[in-house]
Amino acid sequence: MKCNHCKNPVKEQDVICEWCGREISLFQSNDDMHPVNKFEQELREIESKAREKFQERIDNINSNSNEGIVGKIFGTTNYEQWDEDYEEELSQYVYKLHAKAVANFVLPTNPKLLKEVLELAKNNYRLNKVAFWDDDEENKNKLLLSLAWLNLSKVVKNKLGIENRYSVVDKLVNYLYKNSGLKWVIIVFSIYVLLFVIIGLINYFQE
Ligand SMILES: [Zn+2]
Repeated sequence: MKCNHCKNPVKEQDVICEWCGREISLFQSNDDMHPVNKFEQELREIESKAREKFQERIDNINSNSNEGIVGKIFGTTNYEQWDEDYEEELSQYVYKLHAKAVANFVLPTNPKLLKEVLELAKNNYRLNKVAFWDDDEENKNKLLLSLAWLNLSKVVKNKLGIENRYSVVDKLVNYLYKNSGLKWVIIVFSIYVLLFVIIGLINYFQE
C-alpha cells in the first residue's frame, strides 16, 4: 500500500502517513470497495435475493395449480398473490439473515474505517431496537438483529480501545430482553406495586 500523496509505503492501519504527515484516504466515500459501502451493498443483496426466493415460491404454487384454462379464464382459480403475510414472513426472514451477516462481518484494521463501522453499527442498532413493551414472539428476529449490531459496536469499541460504558439500566434492559419470562414477572409485579400505592393513597385521603 502506498500513500496517496507522496507514494511512499504505508501500512493499512495507518491514519497519517509517516513520510509526509498527511492523512491517508484509503477510499473515496462513494468507492464500491469501501468496506462500509460494500457491507451495506451486501445487506441489500441479501434482501433482494430473499425477495426473489419468495416470488419463486409463489410462482411455483401458481404454476402447479391444475385447474386448467377454463378455471383461469373464468377466474375461479385462486392465484397465490403477494400479500401482507408474505411481506411479514419475508421481513422476519431478512432480519434473521441480516443478523447472521452482521455477526460474520470481518472488521477492517484501519482505525478511521473502524470508526465508520461503529457509526453504522450504532445507527442500525437504534433503527432495529425493539421497545421493551413490544411483543416478544413477533419481534424475536428483529431483536436478534439489533443485538447483532450492538455486539458489533462493542467489538469495534474494544478494537479502538474505547471503553464500553453501559449504564445499569441498559444492562438490565438487555438482560430482560434475553429472559422474557422475567420481564413479565417484573411488569406484573410493578402493576401490583402501583395498585397498592393507589389504594394506599385513596385510603390516606379518605381519612
Ligand atoms: Zn505520504
